[in-house]
Amino acid sequence: MPTPRILVPASHGKAVRLTAGQAVRVINTHGTQVVDCWAWNAYDLTEHMSMETTRTWTQHLNPKLGDTFVTTIRQPILTLVEDTSPGVHDTVIAACCRHRYTLLGVKSYHRNCRDNMFEAMQELGVTVPAPILGSFNIFMNIPVQPDGISLDTRPTVTRPGDYITLRAEMDCYVACSACPQDIVKIQNAGDNQPRDVELEILDSGFPDLKIQGPWVPAA
Ligand SMILES: [Zn+2]
Repeated sequence: MPTPRILVPASHGKAVRLTAGQAVRVINTHGTQVVDCWAWNAYDLTEHMSMETTRTWTQHLNPKLGDTFVTTIRQPILTLVEDTSPGVHDTVIAACCRHRYTLLGVKSYHRNCRDNMFEAMQELGVTVPAPILGSFNIFMNIPVQPDGISLDTRPTVTRPGDYITLRAEMDCYVACSACPQDIVKIQNAGDNQPRDVELEILDSGFPDLKIQGPWVPAA
């Protein structure tokens, strides 16, 4: 049975604790919102989901259905077992932080994904030990350009109700931030305003995909 949906208010974050075999569904309620996501080993917060090691493991710039995310010590932590969205996500762009908004010309404090991550984990009574900017940017649309090295930053292409489901491969914490970005046009809302998203913790009812092993060179 799914738990009641957990609201992630626009421009805020929420974290959940999963036991191995459970999953969290990240629901793009309005279809317009980018969601930054982090995960940690529940028993060692210095071990966390890493985009660098994950790209090495999968050889994908962005995750495909069935791809496994790995930690800083290359242990599987989450697997993408469902994706009803067009499959456009990002692992390259740093999570937004207060400094990002200063560079964008904002003079006062601007809510940001990095602080949302700390707040969300604090709500669970957990203090994250080190700053992490390398997040899995769910629904974020950063297409590689034809020259092979340039990136573009575009609004998300998701639809209302699109979701992804991430299965826990170890006992872990997962934090999600409904990105507060309202200056760079990444939200697919006419007003570029952040919107709420929802989380759902699942014990069952999602595909039983096998963990994909690491890429190795052909013999
Ligand atoms: Zn953000």
